[in-house]
Amino acid sequence: MSKLLIVGTVAFDAIETPFGKTDKILGGAATYIGLAASNFNIPSAIVSVVGNDFPAEYIEMLQKHNIDTSAIEIVPDGKTFFWSGRYHNDMNSRDTLETQLNVLENFNPVVPEAYKDAEIVMLGNLHPLVQLSVLEQMDAKPKLAVLDTMNFWMDIALDDLKKVIAKVDVITINDEEARQLSGEYSLVKAARVIEAMGPKYVVIKKGEHGALLFNNGQVFFAPALPLEEVFDPTGAGDTFAGGFAGYIAKSEDISFENMKNAIIQGSNLASFCVEKFGTERMQELSRTEIGNRLQRFKELTQFEIELS
Ligand code: AMP
Repeated sequence: MSKLLIVGTVAFDAIETPFGKTDKILGGAATYIGLAASNFNIPSAIVSVVGNDFPAEYIEMLQKHNIDTSAIEIVPDGKTFFWSGRYHNDMNSRDTLETQLNVLENFNPVVPEAYKDAEIVMLGNLHPLVQLSVLEQMDAKPKLAVLDTMNFWMDIALDDLKKVIAKVDVITINDEEARQLSGEYSLVKAARVIEAMGPKYVVIKKGEHGALLFNNGQVFFAPALPLEEVFDPTGAGDTFAGGFAGYIAKSEDISFENMKNAIIQGSNLASFCVEKFGTERMQELSRTEIGNRLQRFKELTQFEIELS
């Protein structure tokens, strides 16, 4: 079993979907990644920052999921990162209404001593220079560094983002962002351009249409589970990334074959995340539910065909 180091936002989100609207609720990339990865019972720690407006009970909830929160800095007179978004009727696309960086603006991440030798590093969504600083604080190059990012950082910090992309093994990114980053409309071409920027493995997330894993001319596709109702897609991408990284940490196998399993695990966990607002569903997941749904993934994708 490997240690997993996570960096990303721990945040307040306000979300609007066709099903309803929330006030400020718990969100953030690292929150979703941590909760998803906790299902694999691996040692994990989050590096992040919040303000003094952040409820202690949220930190306690993460601790109850066995996540080391000692590197979540609390800025005494600061305000927590805030994001608000509104989903379109198809639930596959959304508009960001507001991003308040607040305490993230002057954040200097500090990797805890006990995690400087973590084998797996999950660089969740936040400023690329923070992601880079975390990588630079590691004792040695991790066995696997995974990066997740979004268009926000491409728009305001593309050069810094390219520096961190050059240093990671895996990038997870959604289809629109892959097009923006590569300048290519075809996702196959986009993956090739992004691979040339550094990462050997490129994972392109397509929301309810599943995810593609590219590596050196090989490609694997994981569907998303067809669900009757998607309530709130927020955090699905981070949950996917957390499931992917958590499973790799648990299995200690970074081969392409095992990454196929990892993206199925990520897709499986993301299918739960979207069933309720915010992190609610991810806080109460049981092992049996996860196992049953993995079985449904198998049934969804298995077929026997005679090749003549
Ligand atoms: P996802 O739906 O997987 O893309 O992730 C949504 C989460 O990302 C929300 O909980 C937000 O708090 C967080 N988030 C939104 N914008 C940013 C940003 N620019 N940087 C870091 N985290 C963000």
